[in-house]
Amino acid sequence: MSRNIMILPGDGIGPEIVREACRVLEAVNDSFDLKLNFVDELIGGASIDVYGEPLTDAAVERARECDAILLGAVGGPKWDTIDRAIRPERGLLKIRSSLELYANLRPALLYPQLVDASSLKPEVVSGLDILIVRELTGGIYFGEPRGIRTLENGEREGYNTYKYSESEIERIGRTAFEMARKRNKKVCSVDKANVLEATILWREVMDRLAPEYPDVALSHMYVDNAAMQLVRAPKQFDVLVTGNMFGDILSDAAAMLTGSIGMLPSASLNKHGRGMYEPCHGSAPDIAGQGIANPLATILSASMMLRYSLGETAAADAIETAVGEVLDQGLRTADIYTSGTEKVGTVQMGDAVLAAL
Ligand code: NAD
Repeated sequence: MSRNIMILPGDGIGPEIVREACRVLEAVNDSFDLKLNFVDELIGGASIDVYGEPLTDAAVERARECDAILLGAVGGPKWDTIDRAIRPERGLLKIRSSLELYANLRPALLYPQLVDASSLKPEVVSGLDILIVRELTGGIYFGEPRGIRTLENGEREGYNTYKYSESEIERIGRTAFEMARKRNKKVCSVDKANVLEATILWREVMDRLAPEYPDVALSHMYVDNAAMQLVRAPKQFDVLVTGNMFGDILSDAAAMLTGSIGMLPSASLNKHGRGMYEPCHGSAPDIAGQGIANPLATILSASMMLRYSLGETAAADAIETAVGEVLDQGLRTADIYTSGTEKVGTVQMGDAVLAAL
């Protein structure tokens, strides 16, 4: 049975890093006889330039028919000043909400070879293996009403709405408990229940779910403390579950513990386990077109796709082993380079992973 994979390179370094991930996918497609078909589409600024919108309805319909999606990144200065309603990021929000990709899994795993690339002391980060579970289709990024309005006194006011329903909290909470069961059986739920009513409910729902998972230990932490603990003693965490905005911020902080955001893959799943896979970073316009971006987060996202949406564990293992071997060989893109290692570009890194495969 063949499987269709939608490829959305996006903008900036997106096309460069997705090209390397596709070469790796094509290699395992042949060697493991995966029967993958690749379907190309535009998203973000690339789509705005052609269609005048960041993701067409036709692209969403094609995405619905695919078994999984691999995305690069969207956005860049070229589109920063256009109408907010058609900004590149709107394409991302549209595909996440249209396909109900509510569970964003962001592993922050430190490869032992990269312990010196982290900005934290080796003893603080070595052995780090955290999974951040971020709610992706609710909270303040989607809440209505939202906008910028003019008040009676003529002053303008920006406003957004932070809300979560019980069912939204419950389904992401269950994802976190299920994931913890496959790991070290600890869930830390992050909220701001001392200030925000939406997160008082969040905490209540998490407490209500906990007895259904007696083998998993649930704890709660305020988001400001969680930010501090992530850089103070990050190894205390196993699974960290939180809402959309807090997860956005905390997962970028966790990314740096691992040396570079260029190493971190992510999965965004719906209730059927179908999903979109993408690196945690953005389109990095500052280095786009220079051939120096790290493609490993995207290559590892492809491996998560094989594991979580396609059930191809052996192929996923092979990719992850190959990435480890390349790091063992001392090859590093600029973002993870330390003295004594060999600096390589995007394509050379892709070549090395292919050779290791
Ligand atoms: P960014 O993640 O693109 O870049 C932050 C820093 O990390 C930059 O210095 C960049 O060079 C570096 N970096 C990122 N990925 C890298 C890689 N693979 N290899 C080496 N270095 C890498 O974040 P930003 O600068 O805040 O945003 C740039 C653009 O990306 C904006 O338009 C933003 O809206 C967009 N963005 C998109 C996504 C997404 O598509 N999911 C996520 C975040 C930001």
